[in-house]
Amino acid sequence: MKNITVIGAGTMGNGIAHVFAQSGFNVNLVDISQEALDSGLATITKNLDRMIKKERITEADKNDTLGRIATHTSLAEAATSAELIVEAATENVDLKLKIFKDMDANAPEGCILATNTSSISITKIAAVTGRPDKVIGMHFMNPVPIMKLVEVIRGYATSDEVTEKIMALSKDLRKAPVEVNDYPGFVANRILMPMINEAIITLHEGVAGVEEIDTVMKLGMAHPMGPLQLADFIGLDVCLSIMNVLYDGFGNPKYAPCPLLVNMVTAGNLGVKSGEGFYSWGHGTKDLIVSPKFS
Ligand code: NAD
Repeated sequence: MKNITVIGAGTMGNGIAHVFAQSGFNVNLVDISQEALDSGLATITKNLDRMIKKERITEADKNDTLGRIATHTSLAEAATSAELIVEAATENVDLKLKIFKDMDANAPEGCILATNTSSISITKIAAVTGRPDKVIGMHFMNPVPIMKLVEVIRGYATSDEVTEKIMALSKDLRKAPVEVNDYPGFVANRILMPMINEAIITLHEGVAGVEEIDTVMKLGMAHPMGPLQLADFIGLDVCLSIMNVLYDGFGNPKYAPCPLLVNMVTAGNLGVKSGEGFYSWGHGTKDLIVSPKFS
């Protein structure tokens, strides 16, 4: 494989484009928003500059990497020569089904269609295409250039050949792929999100405060970041939507989202992206300040 198309230039899409281009692939990066494409390229440039500072790459490597990325606002134009398309657009089931129909209509017959979805069923996405054997989950972790894991998710109809290709390709990107089956939350979010939800329930029940809960998990369990801070980074709306996928998918009350999480999302307190979550963000300092709501 040489030609990769990445759909969505947001947090994940620009990171995915970065790692493919740095590994020598030609990347067509697509977004409906020119602003997202510009800001995605700016982020890639900033991250490459940081790697130069750490003497991990040279200025020439940076220029080669950037030279392999072309940007487009039209999927049809970017899909024609693709051998693999990795979709990393907004987490919305109707949007993803539409994008996969478009990808199927525009991509060459042999092209593999992958999705970076955190929680939507690969089998459901594959079913709207005429090539369900070539549809697969390629779930990168944030921040993509740094995190080693790729959760490779087989849908009900994904072929062995396509799975093997994506496992090998992930290794070519110097990532560590892990093969899993298509069940709600896959593995990563099936384990991570109930832990975050339980941390929110613990706060909601008044067992301990925000800092105390995060400190227990950081110092006691060697987590690099506490679950409430992590929830703020992921986005509380994303956490809620994944808990709902688990709750609907398994029909088990243990996955019911905490009412506090539901309230915070309804109030627009989404974490880092909105400036307020369990912590207050955007206050011009790197110190964490517990949100006034919880202090
Ligand atoms: P984001 O909001 O940062 O970026 C999404 C991008 O998709 C935006 O730039 C938007 O303009 C673009 N987009 C929307 N509709 C489009 C279309 N029709 N065609 C092309 N582009 C379109 O979102 P993100 O955090 O990068 O998440 C992307 C995907 O990755 C989601 O499925 C999410 O669940 C998954 N994911 C996110 C994380 C994370 O930590 N953020 C981690 C793993 C997986």
